[in-house]
Amino acid sequence: MLSQAMQDAINEQIKNELYSAYLYLSMAAYAEEDNLPGFAHWMKAQAQEEVEHAMKFFNYVTERGGRVVLQAIDQPPVEFASPTDLFEKTLEHERHVTSLIHDLYALALKENDYASQVMLQWFIEEQVEEEANAAQILATLKMAGDKGNPLVMLDRALASREG
Ligand code: MG
Repeated sequence: MLSQAMQDAINEQIKNELYSAYLYLSMAAYAEEDNLPGFAHWMKAQAQEEVEHAMKFFNYVTERGGRVVLQAIDQPPVEFASPTDLFEKTLEHERHVTSLIHDLYALALKENDYASQVMLQWFIEEQVEEEANAAQILATLKMAGDKGNPLVMLDRALASREG
């Protein structure tokens, strides 16, 4: 059985993961409008992954005999300055999510909740990957600038994301 504190914190994280999906969908909408279908595709895939993260937490709460309580999701930003801005905000957001996952892990340690510690280790590794992906794309964008051929090439590369 999950402790109340752990259950409340994971319910909060379900909301945070769904907010992430909302944020990346909003970025996808911006990219569609900006005629960058590859960026839009990448952001939609990213949003899908965030829904999967939310569902992992959702199913975990249920599995541990807890109760999922869904919370209101804030509206994400609508406007972005440039393709580079999208990935600056992606990296910044993923760093924030990493800190939230670390807070959850710290709580699981405090509560002597060993099962939650194991479950959260997957997310700790996932965040390393999320930050690395965003940082790498951002580095490419900074080399390329927001205009011209390199951006078009990156757009094509992002279009090839499968999952
Ligand atoms: Mg996530």
